[in-house]
Amino acid sequence: MHIQLLSQKIPVGISRCAVGDPVRYNGSHKHSKVCTQLLGNCFELQAYCPEVAIGMGVPRPPIHLIVSDRLRAVGREDPNLDVTEALEGYADTIAPEVENLRGFILMQKSPSCGVRTTPHYKEDGTGVLAHDSGLFAARLRQHFPHLPMEEVGRLNASDLRENFLTRVFAYDAWHRYVATDLRPARVIEFYTAYKYLLLAHSQPMTRALGQFVSNSRALPVEEFAYEVRGKIMEILSQLASRKDRTNALMHSQGHLKSYLSKEERAELALLIDEYRQGNKPLSAVLTMLRHYLPRTPHQFIHSQVLLAAEPAELGLCEFR
Ligand code: SF4
Repeated sequence: MHIQLLSQKIPVGISRCAVGDPVRYNGSHKHSKVCTQLLGNCFELQAYCPEVAIGMGVPRPPIHLIVSDRLRAVGREDPNLDVTEALEGYADTIAPEVENLRGFILMQKSPSCGVRTTPHYKEDGTGVLAHDSGLFAARLRQHFPHLPMEEVGRLNASDLRENFLTRVFAYDAWHRYVATDLRPARVIEFYTAYKYLLLAHSQPMTRALGQFVSNSRALPVEEFAYEVRGKIMEILSQLASRKDRTNALMHSQGHLKSYLSKEERAELALLIDEYRQGNKPLSAVLTMLRHYLPRTPHQFIHSQVLLAAEPAELGLCEFR
């Protein structure tokens, strides 16, 4: 199987205030150029503002989340203003549209859109009990447990941006290669093609997934596919370390060894070691591995997504 990572823009949802629309409670916006200009090169951004969509208007009274009989979105000044069910109902309403998205970028700290940084206040509003999701984001997560979601502000960091892109590309590839032709063989092909990329994110979790794939083929295909996709997305959400990437590159090198001269082997080994030490970029190693790739007939290594164009090489992140 050959997975083409990026043939056309991928549909991704985004909080409307992040694309520059003045929809915040006070009539302002929080435009993110990283999202609209940099990520806009490969994402087709579809903007949503849940608070405007439920009719709160602009400007509007600010809301916050309180832990009461359950988590509730109420007015900061008027606790009788309760939009909990309205926000969740909006997420339910747009779920059929979100089904077609391959990621969602959400505004941090928002009582509606935050993914992990939204304050959850005590019922009397005096103190913060936790930082977690806003109500709209939490409901989306219930509908789409494996959908890549990230906060706008975190995407300013190159490593977090690369991680989000990797997850969106994988989620998109899954829908194109597995969901359209759901068979155990397709699930296994997908896992196999991602194997070295997964190793670069977590060796122990990838080994556990390998065991699961081997031992679970008797499961109904829907359940098997769901579990494998969930585990793949969970592994990819771990940041790839230089150490684990080096390990995955060395595995790739192992497939090529017998097709290289002694000098070529030494040059490749030295380059991987220089990457390990932080003296050479990942792209240098990938370029050399790709250069030698046509020499081997083994499909396994040809199929590896690790060796395909990756976010750093698309100019969307810095090399690490
Ligand atoms: S954070 Fe969400 S609800 Fe708030 S203005 Fe932005 S899009 Fe609208």
